[in-house]
Amino acid sequence: MKNIYNVAQRNNDLGTETAFSVLAKANKLASQGKNIINLGIGQPDFQTPEHIVEAGVKALKDGHHGYTQSTGIPKLREAVSEDIKRRHDVNVSPEQILIVPGGKVIIFFSAMLMGEKGKEILYPNPGFPIYESAINYSGAKAIPYKLCEDQGFSFSADDILKKINERTSLIIINSPANPTGGVVPRKELEKLADGLQKFPNVVLMSDEIYDQFCFGDESFTTMLSFPEIRERLIILNGWSKTYAMTGWRLGYGIFPAKLYEIAEKLAVNIHSCVNASAQFAALEALKGPQDCVQEMNNTFKKRAEIMFAKLNDLEGFKCQKPSGAFYCFPNINGTNKNSTEIQNILLDELGVATVAGTSFGKFGEGYVRLSCANSLEAIEEAVSRMKTIF
Ligand code: PLP
Repeated sequence: MKNIYNVAQRNNDLGTETAFSVLAKANKLASQGKNIINLGIGQPDFQTPEHIVEAGVKALKDGHHGYTQSTGIPKLREAVSEDIKRRHDVNVSPEQILIVPGGKVIIFFSAMLMGEKGKEILYPNPGFPIYESAINYSGAKAIPYKLCEDQGFSFSADDILKKINERTSLIIINSPANPTGGVVPRKELEKLADGLQKFPNVVLMSDEIYDQFCFGDESFTTMLSFPEIRERLIILNGWSKTYAMTGWRLGYGIFPAKLYEIAEKLAVNIHSCVNASAQFAALEALKGPQDCVQEMNNTFKKRAEIMFAKLNDLEGFKCQKPSGAFYCFPNINGTNKNSTEIQNILLDELGVATVAGTSFGKFGEGYVRLSCANSLEAIEEAVSRMKTIF
C-alpha cells in the first residue's frame, strides 16, 4: 500500500517491550481455552495493599478530581524525601522530586534531556529495552555495555569508564536489574562514582525501581550515597514494583536543579500532572505500614531460590542465583536453540509464557527471562512442564 503519511524518520528508531506482546499472545491462547502459566510479565502478582487502595478511593470521594501541580502534590514530594531519608539517610529536597506517571517516563525524559545527534549514551545490555529505544529516539547513539553472567550480571565500572569519550552525555545504570536479577556490588558503584570525577559533563541516570527487592549477599546501595556525583545524578524510582501498583501509573525522578527545570517543562508539555487520586494512594503507601513490602520481598526471594534451583535441573539450562528484582535469567545455550526458539517452544508447546533474552538487547541471546511474579504452585507446574522436553 502506498504510504500516504510523511511520518517523521525518528519513529523508525522506536523499539518496544516484548513482554507486552508475549502477554497479548498468552492472553489470546488462554481465551482459546489453553492453560497458560504466565512467567512473562514483570509486575508483582499481588493486589495493591488495601490501605493504599482505600486512600485512592477516599481521594476520589473527597473530590480530588482536578489537575494537581505538574510536579506532584507537595505532600507527596515531601513524603518521598522523608522516605529516602528514612531508608538511606540521605537528604533530598522535595524541590528536586518530580512525580510522574510511571518510572518509565524518567527514562524518556533523561534521553530527551541528554540525547541528540552527535551524542552517545551508554546503557546496560541485556537491559530494560526502553533504554535503547529512548536513546535511539533521541537521536543519540546507543552504546551498550555488556552485563556478564560470570560477573553475577553486574557491570564493570572500568568497562563503562573506558567507553566514555567527548561525545558521551549520559550513562544509564540499573541495579537490581531487569532482566538478569543481578545486583551491582557497592565497590563497583563507588569505582564508577569515583571514575566519573574525570568526566564532569557526563550525567548518570540510576534506575532504582527494584531497590526494595534485593535479597542476595549484597545489600542495595543507592547512587545518592555518593555526594561527588549528586550534581549530575538522575534517580528513577516509583511505586509500581514496591507496592504492586503498576496499573496506577506512578513514579518519580530526582533531578539536579538545572535538569529539574527542563524535566518540569517536559511534564507540563506531555502529561500536565499525575492522576490526583493515584498521588493520594502513593502518599498512603509511603506513610502507612511497610510490612507489605517486606512480605513481598520475602516471597520473591523464596520463589527465586526455588525457581533457580529447578531451572538448573533442566537439560541445557544453567541459571545464576538472582540477587534482586524478581526474575531468573537462565543461560539456554546447552539446549542448542536460540532465545526466540525457546520462548516459542515454551509458549506454543507447553503453555509457559517467558520472554526471549534478545528482547533485552543483543547480548541477551542465549538467555530467556522467567518472572517469579506468579505463585509457587504455578512456578512448579511450569518447570515440570519444561521437564517434559528438557
Ligand atoms: N525500569 C525498569 C528496570 C523496569 O523493569 C520497569 C518496568 O518493568 C520500569 C523501569 C518502568 O516502571 P513503571 O511501570 O513504573 O513505568
